Amino acid sequence: MSDASELPERKEEGEVSPEAEEQSDDSSEDEAAGETDMDFLRNLFSSTLGLGSAEKVLDELTLDGVAQYIKSGKCKNIICMVGAGISTSAGIPDFRSPGTGLYANLQKYNLPYPEAIFQIDYFKKHPEPFFALAKELYPGQFKPTICHYFMKMLKDKGLLKRCYTQNIDTLERVAGLEGDDLIEAHGTFYTSHCVSFCCRKEYNLDWMKEKIFSDDIPRCDKCSSLVKPDIVFFGENLPVRFFTSMKMDFPRCDLLIVMGTSLQVQPFAGLVSRVSKSCPRLLINMEKAGQADPLLGLLGFGGGMDFDSDKAYRDVAHISTCDDGCLALADLLGWKAQLEELVKQEHTRIDSQDKKSSEKSEASAKASSASVAPETKKEE
Ligand SMILES: [Zn+2]
Repeated sequence: MSDASELPERKEEGEVSPEAEEQSDDSSEDEAAGETDMDFLRNLFSSTLGLGSAEKVLDELTLDGVAQYIKSGKCKNIICMVGAGISTSAGIPDFRSPGTGLYANLQKYNLPYPEAIFQIDYFKKHPEPFFALAKELYPGQFKPTICHYFMKMLKDKGLLKRCYTQNIDTLERVAGLEGDDLIEAHGTFYTSHCVSFCCRKEYNLDWMKEKIFSDDIPRCDKCSSLVKPDIVFFGENLPVRFFTSMKMDFPRCDLLIVMGTSLQVQPFAGLVSRVSKSCPRLLINMEKAGQADPLLGLLGFGGGMDFDSDKAYRDVAHISTCDDGCLALADLLGWKAQLEELVKQEHTRIDSQDKKSSEKSEASAKASSASVAPETKKEE
């Protein structure tokens, strides 16, 4: 079974509300400041209408070619598109890998079928399996990877336009990317909302964490409806920001780096064809992905990756783990030592934080068990 067939598609672009379209136009004026309107329009037409020239930007279609391009200073708006593969080295299971994946470990929840755990209708009736799984996979128990910190370096160097992630583990935020740097296409655990349409009260991560770890089913203070982390379940729309930002960001992109995704879930996968025809695209993944269907290509559709054909001119596939690929690219850029130092520093900081918070919770557990103990004995 392919990934695509295992995953019911999330809703498509056509369902964006008119307000979302307006927001997009407003922000375009702000963001366009600082670059020429002509550049923007040219890229916009070239990506949306398939016009414009397919200029060869990279000297060679290799990681080194990409590094030379970044070093040339001509590339200032890098977009990263990332998926589960960037978090596997953090110990987060890729829920689509048979055997080791998450779906394989779901038997204990007695689901009618594995995907039900992420389906909104099932969740509203049976929230328990989702929250049990959430406890098991709780974000904060994992550390960001080399790849996450590589993106943080791109941000610090002023090169990151945006990171589009399919992951819900919030590791991009832990690594130091902030709300504006990020489009969490499939939502995030970072915030939660009451599921009642009349209420929609927002709850923060600490509130949700407390509920999840005390095995309470989270209910709204105001209306007692379920409260759900803002991750996109099957049967729910993608966040409006995904659609509004995508239209502004991709025409401006001058290097697309795709990491750890097999580019099989729409509408996310289709983003690769939204950059201009001259924009180089680097894939760092364990296998090639996103290649154009040759038949569609003949008909003039497509826009998929072309790594190997005679006409290939801008797509580079680096077949490796995301961490190894990022280290190799950092090495070619002369950033390797800096990247390794950043990872070391941040991991030490997270470990010491975890230690402090576990000591604190152990201490408070002891204190509360001490005060509860006499009562318990009396009841016996
Ligand atoms: Zn409510």
